[in-house]
Amino acid sequence: MENRTEIAELGEFGLIDHLTKNFEIHNASTVLGVGDDAAVIDHFGKQTVVTTDLLLEGIHFDLMYTPLKHLGYKAVIVNLSDIYAMNAMPTQVTMSIGISNRISLEALNEFYEGVFLACEKHGVDLVGGDTSTSNKGFIISVTAIGEVAPDKFVKRSTAQKGDLICVSGDLGGAFLGLTIMEREKKIYLENSNIQPDLENESYIVGRLLKPEARKDIIEFFEQSEIVPTSMMDVSDGISSEVLHICKQSSLGCVIYEEKIPISDESRQAAYKFGLDPTVCALNGGEDYELIFTLKQEDHDKIILNEEISVIGYMTDIEEGCKFHSKGGNTFNITAQGWNAFQK
Ligand code: ADP
Ligand code: MG
Repeated sequence: MENRTEIAELGEFGLIDHLTKNFEIHNASTVLGVGDDAAVIDHFGKQTVVTTDLLLEGIHFDLMYTPLKHLGYKAVIVNLSDIYAMNAMPTQVTMSIGISNRISLEALNEFYEGVFLACEKHGVDLVGGDTSTSNKGFIISVTAIGEVAPDKFVKRSTAQKGDLICVSGDLGGAFLGLTIMEREKKIYLENSNIQPDLENESYIVGRLLKPEARKDIIEFFEQSEIVPTSMMDVSDGISSEVLHICKQSSLGCVIYEEKIPISDESRQAAYKFGLDPTVCALNGGEDYELIFTLKQEDHDKIILNEEISVIGYMTDIEEGCKFHSKGGNTFNITAQGWNAFQK
C-alpha cells in the first residue's frame, strides 16, 4: 500500500501552509499573496480582467482516468485561457477546494504539483483560495486575474463584416480523447483484467487531460501589432463559439469545412470510432484554442504562422451563419455545443 496521510492530521491551517509554501511571487502586481484576509493587487494603471470557473467531480472530470496532477494543471489552464481570450496577460489565481475524505494528503500534493506547474509555466502567482471539506466529490473553484493596457481588451461583440475568422491550433482532439477514455473506462468496469491500450492515442488523450492555454498566440499578436476585432476561447466547440461571436456582433458568417484544422491523430481516432472528424471539431469541447476575427488587412501578418488557420469570414446578419461542406453543400450552423448539463 502506498502512503496515505489523512488531511485531518494537518488541520486546515497546516494544510493551507503545506500546499502553498512553495509558490513564489512572479509579478510586481502581486503586492500581498497568501496568508492574510485578502490578497492585494496593483496593476499600475493597467486594466484588470477577472474570470472564474467551477469544476465538479462527476460533471467536469472523472477521477477514474484523470491523474490529479493533470487535474490541478487543467483547473488553472482553463481559467488562464479565458484571460488570454480577452487579449490580456494572467497575473494571479486563487484556488478554492472542497475535499471529500476519499482524498488523501498525497493526492492533494499531486493536485497542487499540477497547479504549481501551470502557475510557473505562465508566470502566474497563487495569491489565495479557500479550503473546506465536501460531503461528496472533489470540488474545485479557480479565479484568474489578468492585466491589459487600457482599453486593449478584446470582446466577443466587436467583429466587423468582412473580417476573417481564425482559430489557433487544431480542433476536436479533446473530445476524441474523452471518447476513448470513456470507452476504456467502460471496458475496465466490465473486466478489470483488461488494461487500456492508449499508446497510439497519446496526442488526443493529452488534449483532454493536459490542455494548454494559448499564451503564445497573444504574444504573437503583440509582436505582430495585431489586435483581433473579436475573440473568445474554444471550450464548447467552434459551432457554439462562432454563433456567440455572430450573435453578440449582430453579424452572420461563412465557415469552410476544408479550412478547419484537424490533426492526423484526431482524424484517425474519429474514423476508428465511426465519427466524422469535422463534427468532432465543430461540436466537441475543451480544446482551449482561441477563435478570433481579424481585419482583412491583417491577413499578411498571420500567413506564416502555422498555428493560425483562417476558416471563414463574417457577413451581414441577413446572410445567417453558414457552413460550406467539402461536398459543396451549405448548412446552417447550429449550436450542439459541449454542455455539462447534457452529459
Ligand atoms: P479565511 O478564514 O479568511 O477564509 P483562510 O484561513 O481560509 O482565511 O485562508 C488563509 C489564507 O490562505 C488566505 O490567504 C487564503 O486566501 C489562503 N488559502 C486558503 N485555502 C487555500 C488554498 N486551497 N490554496 C491556496 N490558498 C489558500
Ligand atoms: Mg477560508
